Amino acid sequence: MDIKNLQRENIKNLRPYSTARDEYKGQASVFLDANENSFGSPLPENFNRYPDPLQLDVKDAISKIKGVPIENTFLGNGSDEAIDLLFRCFCNPGKDNVIILPPTYGMYEVSANINDVEIRKVNLLPNFQLDLDGIAEAIDENTKLIFICSPNNPTGNSIIRTDIETILANFKGLVVIDEAYINFAKQRTFIQELTEYPHLVILQTFSKAWGLAGLRLGMAFASSIVIDILNKVKAPYNISQSTQDLALAALQNVTQVNDWIKVTVAEREILSQKLLGLPMVSKVYPSDANFVLAEVADAAGTYHALVDQGIIIRDRSKVVLCDGCLRITIGTPQENEILLSALKSIN
Ligand SMILES: *Cc1c(COP(=O)(O)O)cnc(C)c1O
Repeated sequence: MDIKNLQRENIKNLRPYSTARDEYKGQASVFLDANENSFGSPLPENFNRYPDPLQLDVKDAISKIKGVPIENTFLGNGSDEAIDLLFRCFCNPGKDNVIILPPTYGMYEVSANINDVEIRKVNLLPNFQLDLDGIAEAIDENTKLIFICSPNNPTGNSIIRTDIETILANFKGLVVIDEAYINFAKQRTFIQELTEYPHLVILQTFSKAWGLAGLRLGMAFASSIVIDILNKVKAPYNISQSTQDLALAALQNVTQVNDWIKVTVAEREILSQKLLGLPMVSKVYPSDANFVLAEVADAAGTYHALVDQGIIIRDRSKVVLCDGCLRITIGTPQENEILLSALKSIN
């Protein structure tokens, strides 16, 4: 499989911007190469220097946790940057197409539209699993990307592993598995499969389990060929020095994060059971994520009644296959109790 030929011709021929930091990487005492402020910065930390364009220290710390070599790791301003870059590197506007599997994360479609790339939608089956025949039919020679979100947002389920392997075995474009919620799942990550599939891209993020949605840091793991292409096209200093510093500090706190994951998973089961006990709730779908999808008698009415009590959830009832459904993020035990008593007070 020739990944290099998947990229757009203009990207293949692109000579990337060369930063001062790219041209000289060694030790020196006087840096007069990047037009920075040589005196310092008005902050206690020294932010006067440009950050490492390839974020090697952060990647090294991530590598120790995930076991993925640095050359197979890309960091973006959220996963959303990696999603956008995949379109810009691999999809010719007005010619190529991508496959998405609704109901799923909204950003794939927005990013496709921004980049003027055709979207082929193959809905999940009623059990929220892949329609493998439908996907096979939708693929043509201009299909460059398939986005598989597992665990899926907003349905919460993991996609059956062997189904993903079927796609990996048969599709010649890039298979993007969005594992934003993998830390809450029983299913294993596909990271171990990276060595086997040069066309596999795995997205993970610091925004969910890591508790750093405000930081904006996302990861893409892939073959070094794919990673090199993403790095060539990204903005040179896409991750700020403060983000790199804070991410490094956060990566020292794995124990705290793992504790939160355990509590969240336990609370997910408690909340699911208690929701099911409410007369208005007809169904709570099993979840491998930090949210649940619940089917209720009057989704819009329930949503607005909760808003009136200062509680915000997501009304997904207009989304395909999600008729009557609300998506509820797992809160702290106290927040979940507030939600439950509010729901009891409705009607
Ligand atoms: C929340 C979420 C993300 C995270 O995006 P960031 O840009 O990293 O915050 C990615 N994918 C899915 C499916 C999500 O739900």
